[in-house]
Amino acid sequence: MKTSFPNIKKESIDTLQINIGYKCNQACKHCHVNSSPSRTEMMSEKILDLIPKIIKKFNIKTLDITGGAPEMNPNFKKLVLSLKNQDINIIDRCNLTIFFEKGYEDLPNFLAENKVIITASLPCYEKENVEKQRGSGVFDKSINAIKILNNLGYGKTNTELELNLVYNPINPTLPPAQDKLEKDYKKVLFEKYKITFNKLYTITNMPINRYADFLKMTGELEKYFELLAKNFNQQNLKNLMCKKTLSIDWEGQIYDCDFNQQLKLKSESGPKNLYELLNYSSSFNYPIAAKNHCFACTAGAGSSCGGSLS
Ligand code: SF4
Ligand code: SF4
Repeated sequence: MKTSFPNIKKESIDTLQINIGYKCNQACKHCHVNSSPSRTEMMSEKILDLIPKIIKKFNIKTLDITGGAPEMNPNFKKLVLSLKNQDINIIDRCNLTIFFEKGYEDLPNFLAENKVIITASLPCYEKENVEKQRGSGVFDKSINAIKILNNLGYGKTNTELELNLVYNPINPTLPPAQDKLEKDYKKVLFEKYKITFNKLYTITNMPINRYADFLKMTGELEKYFELLAKNFNQQNLKNLMCKKTLSIDWEGQIYDCDFNQQLKLKSESGPKNLYELLNYSSSFNYPIAAKNHCFACTAGAGSSCGGSLS
């Protein structure tokens, strides 16, 4: 069993993942951001205004907007609209229940009009399992939200409007095979609720923050780390998302990925914040701040914000 994570380096950057605020209308058990309605950290308009400039300068292909509930940042729409004329995929990591909060009723139409890709968590197709992890009432709201999105054209075959779902295990285990689970999800969700989506991404739970506290409380944290290290798969190293991604926090600080951002774990090299990035002209080929939580990305079929790696 590997005991320390191998050295890895960044490559050329094609994705910017920005966390524009920790506030969320939910407070899920597995949340690695510790988000909840009481969090107040929020990316300012001044910092958000730098994002289109960075995208242009580095020819970024994907902007992945996350939170919290990213839509709760009052400048979320302004950011999306400011990128209208740039050739870029915009992903909104949406929790679906936000559509039913006061003041967000027009959000589905806005996302559809601007062809924003929606990536949404639905950790199971069974109500009981979803609500165990994400809270009571979340499952029915999520299904109703997907119905609204389907009616707008999201989640259909040959559509320009992409709706992807995210699965993460309820128990401290590795996710099952992504392809097979996607087929099961599609079958059950269509048969039971007549809803459709494009892709299912399986993600391994990251043992940091709230999820690590939860595992500690149940006495399972050490065993979970062992499981991740025991299932280390060398093949996944080449596809790790941190190699081509910069993760930006609400204050404009730069990390290798959203997980390292939550741990405040910075690479010793490379640009430290968005202002430095704007003037950055060196190669991105610098060492990534990898520690033992990284085994969650390499275990089994691998894991990233875009699902399994192999
Ligand atoms: S919806 Fe997402 S960001 Fe909000 S608490 Fe749940 S996992 Fe965290
Ligand atoms: S947690 Fe995963 S994505 Fe982040 S630095 Fe480690 S291997 Fe890379």
